[in-house]
Amino acid sequence: MQIGILALQGAFIEHEEMLAQLGIASFEIRQKRDLNQPFDGLIIPGGESTVQGKLLRELHLFEPLKAQIQEGLPVFGTCAGLLLLAKHIENDGHTHLATMDITAVRNAYGRQLGSFYTQETCTGMGKIPMTFIRAPYIKNVHSDTVILAQVNGKIVAAQQKNQLVTAFHPELCQDLSMHKYFIEMVEKAGK
Ligand code: GLN
Repeated sequence: MQIGILALQGAFIEHEEMLAQLGIASFEIRQKRDLNQPFDGLIIPGGESTVQGKLLRELHLFEPLKAQIQEGLPVFGTCAGLLLLAKHIENDGHTHLATMDITAVRNAYGRQLGSFYTQETCTGMGKIPMTFIRAPYIKNVHSDTVILAQVNGKIVAAQQKNQLVTAFHPELCQDLSMHKYFIEMVEKAGK
């Protein structure tokens, strides 16, 4: 198994380290020719969604990645990655890959609560640590999207078939549950 990690901007190295701890091979996607090698799953890291969205288009990664996700490539988006996958962003005029049936709110916790740490239950994982950094949350899920976790009544993790998103940064905690969950999705998709 090989996982491609979008490495245009943001916290991609932390994802590589989490996968390495699980014994999973990964490589960085920085330009179009990086897509020539086969990969079984894609991670879109936290960072700045507007910057990543712009670079995706400029580097001609946008169309091929969107098509692969729509064809069923397992994808895991954290924080800005969630925003890149959301079909609707309530307080932003732009959407990006727009493959997942969720409505997200950007920078949703305001200044004071922009960054915080908590622990909450995630379906199938028990209580896991969650680090939020100028995070979005999911206001609504649509279609067959399933809610996996909520914090104070706000949806912070969800899945729609091959797409998994978290508003928090599991790659900045020591807990590997979320990455394990994604790897299981990738394994199932490969069968
Ligand atoms: N606030 C960022 C955005 O709007 C996301 C923050 C993050 O990824 N930590 O893209």
